Amino acid sequence: MTKELSTTGAFALIVDGWFDGEVHHPQRSTFVIDEGRINDISAGDHGADLERRGIPVERGGFLLPGLVDAHVHLFLDGKPTDSKLRSEHMKQPLADLTEAARASARQALSCGVTLVRDAGDRHGINNRIRAEAQDPASGLPQVRSGGLGVKRPKRYGAFMARDVEDADAIRTSVTELAGANDEIKLILTGIIDFDAGAVTDEPQFDLASAQLVVDSALACGRKTFAHCSGAKGLAIAARAGVGSIEHGFFMDREILGIMAEKGVAWTPTFCPVHFQWAHPEVVGWSAQTVGNLRRILDSHAEHLALAAQMGVPLLLGTDAGSMGVEHGYAVFEEISRYLEAGLPLSKTLSAATANARRYFGINHERLAKGGPFEAILTALSPFDDLTTLRKPVRIWSEARLKPR
Ligand SMILES: [Zn+2]
Repeated sequence: MTKELSTTGAFALIVDGWFDGEVHHPQRSTFVIDEGRINDISAGDHGADLERRGIPVERGGFLLPGLVDAHVHLFLDGKPTDSKLRSEHMKQPLADLTEAARASARQALSCGVTLVRDAGDRHGINNRIRAEAQDPASGLPQVRSGGLGVKRPKRYGAFMARDVEDADAIRTSVTELAGANDEIKLILTGIIDFDAGAVTDEPQFDLASAQLVVDSALACGRKTFAHCSGAKGLAIAARAGVGSIEHGFFMDREILGIMAEKGVAWTPTFCPVHFQWAHPEVVGWSAQTVGNLRRILDSHAEHLALAAQMGVPLLLGTDAGSMGVEHGYAVFEEISRYLEAGLPLSKTLSAATANARRYFGINHERLAKGGPFEAILTALSPFDDLTTLRKPVRIWSEARLKPR
């Protein structure tokens, strides 16, 4: 058992079961936490011994790593569904948008999301929130930031990316953005035309220029994550070897094969499309378009299951901030979509915990001895009752910030 513990702040948790980010441990276990790190994990209840040594002990519940939402837009608010309200939100002064981003981040944390990857905003508010989150007193989750992305002039993505006209602009912009951003966001395609049930515009970047973005980013030690849907764009993203494909609607087996081979991760973001399928009245979709949405979602689910089988690294991201996709709460929705697609809960939770941390290059991707204590406690085991995830009883988020 544990030996040297600090005199203040050490505590123990005796949990009924836990998930380390990959493996479910359905047995009572004792965790000793000291100075924000996991000092010891041992099977059984060692509370009496620890109490004798003056270590406070809490008992009960199920422990798992803090959740990761790998695709959010903090400066956008997913709650309003009225398009006028949504465009008014975007026109607010920078200070108000920044405050909105703080509120989004806090809401995510209250749901047990201790780390988010922001997928772009044109003001760089995400980078600012990332800096503020370094203060443990901020009440913010950790933020990994895509800052401002890159797109082609006059094409989709102005709210989150800057224009790059040619190869020189790609090199210069990516190098400059890499100084501020944790990853480079590439707006490779536009969005889906739901009435047509397809991505109808051509990709913004051909293979050579997408490759140049990826290579320029890698030269600065950064991965590229690509906003991309539709077979043409997906083939380019996979062949260019981006770090992760975001959305990826209209996926196919051949592209998944390239992704598996190159280790390209996938963040399928079911949430925004699912919301529009579930609430067609908000946009006024016709019955035919609702049918398209259902077909798109079914195919997406099929390919998620296939991706899991083929060994494509899976992340879980919600696109929170999109219409009807609320920060934090949307993670539970996205988890439900993974389960509906037939993924087991352990694989689904891995996508929302260890897989993301591994992709981000975080040293301790799982809850393990010596690692940071970034975790949530639920009343019951989610393997027995999934709804318990919706109301975490404890959230430890600031641990990683404390010195070793
Ligand atoms: Zn997005």
